[in-house]
Amino acid sequence: MATPQPVRGTQSLLGEDADRLAAVVAAFDRVRRLYGFKRVEVPVLEPTEVFARTMGETTDVVSKEMYSFEDRSGDSVTMRPEFTAGIARAYLSEGWQQYAPLKVATHGPAFRYERPQKGRFRQFNQLDAEIIGTDEPQADVELLAFADQLLKELGIGGSAILKLNTLGDPETRSAWRDALHEHFSSHASALSEESRARLERNPLRILDSKAHGDWPVIDSAPVIDDFLTSEAADFFAQVTAGIDAAGIRWERAPRLVRGLDYYRHTAFEFITDELGAQGTVLAGGRYDGLMEALGGPPTPAVGWAAGIERLALLIDAPEPERPDVGLIDESGRSMDLLIKLASDLRINGILVAGPFAGKSKKQFERVIKSGARARLNLRRWEPNETLTEEALAADDAAMVSLRYATDSDIDSMLSRRVYESLSRSFHATQQAGSDQWLIRPKTA
Ligand code: ATP
Ligand code: MG
Repeated sequence: MATPQPVRGTQSLLGEDADRLAAVVAAFDRVRRLYGFKRVEVPVLEPTEVFARTMGETTDVVSKEMYSFEDRSGDSVTMRPEFTAGIARAYLSEGWQQYAPLKVATHGPAFRYERPQKGRFRQFNQLDAEIIGTDEPQADVELLAFADQLLKELGIGGSAILKLNTLGDPETRSAWRDALHEHFSSHASALSEESRARLERNPLRILDSKAHGDWPVIDSAPVIDDFLTSEAADFFAQVTAGIDAAGIRWERAPRLVRGLDYYRHTAFEFITDELGAQGTVLAGGRYDGLMEALGGPPTPAVGWAAGIERLALLIDAPEPERPDVGLIDESGRSMDLLIKLASDLRINGILVAGPFAGKSKKQFERVIKSGARARLNLRRWEPNETLTEEALAADDAAMVSLRYATDSDIDSMLSRRVYESLSRSFHATQQAGSDQWLIRPKTA
């Protein structure tokens, strides 16, 4: 029978590849807490209109990338292509408004029907952070500092640079839009078919064109600075002063627009030149119009999303997790005791390999293969051994010794933790002049 193949653009990961994703998420979760963002969960499935109404019909995502289908009751549902719209929906439908301003973060899979390539998948994972319900530029600064610290902690702060723009307020945006329309109309013949199609519906989106032929016309397009109202200029000045104060390296990108339609004021991307066409690792901005698109009250908000797979490609390979100790039942008669030892050690936070089945030689081989730093050998006390008086008095005693795989693994902290763990459940006494410990179960 033929084995089913994976869906195109999906991945199954093992070992280092999976560890890389986990390392990105772990760093995100660490930094999230430092900045006081609450963890939220939102569904993978949303009514299609959640995305269609907020992201804009002319965007690539809505016009051609969404995984939408009718469920069995005939409702159109969509597998989330991003988090912001779903979080905004939850903010309104779950009564999260009462917590405003709300700082939330989440991560998980997102789905877009795209042409798969390096750093671009149909099922991919995003990190997401949002501050909802405040129009203060400090919120933009805090989110940018969060993003910047995350990238630094991932070790890619040097290669990813923040490109920053403002899209102004609605007044600014519509004046700029008219100027862009005029500029692109007069150069329409030089534009790609896709950009010409955007001319009437959303000329800002032409600035985001991936067609190289469009770039000269884009480079000569009017920049937003000439249209900024004094309020919009002031807002932007507060954001840039804030990120300067926070020590964030950034560049002005006067023609940067975001793929989605709901952005206002701050728009930004962290770009690297190390991933070819997939150079945007983290992107976001202020989206003051989005809640209204979902029928909610005007609600200012700002947020960003980052592609976990793209970040995972950029970080150094995480150290594979290595057990602290591997267990060996030397005399082949102490499996029950070894199982108890294993769970005691794990309760005390020690990474344990084993116990394994089979003869001690085979157990030894599996411990070596596990890469454990140390071997813990356990063997029943033999009555003919020379032992202390105390040991001789015990009938269910066992001998334990800890041996390190290599000299460089010797870790006195680990030894102490192992013996502390032993001492919690056993009477443990070190044998004079040896590295062996005699243990006897503590009786209740
Ligand atoms: P791109 O221009 O690369 O298509 P985008 O503007 O569509 O990106 P956003 O909607 O801003 O992307 O999503 C935020 C981040 O999610 C991106 O910066 C990127 O890191 C990641 N991302 C987006 N689409 C994909 C995908 N298909 N596969 C992997 N990562 C993705
Ligand atoms: Mg895209």
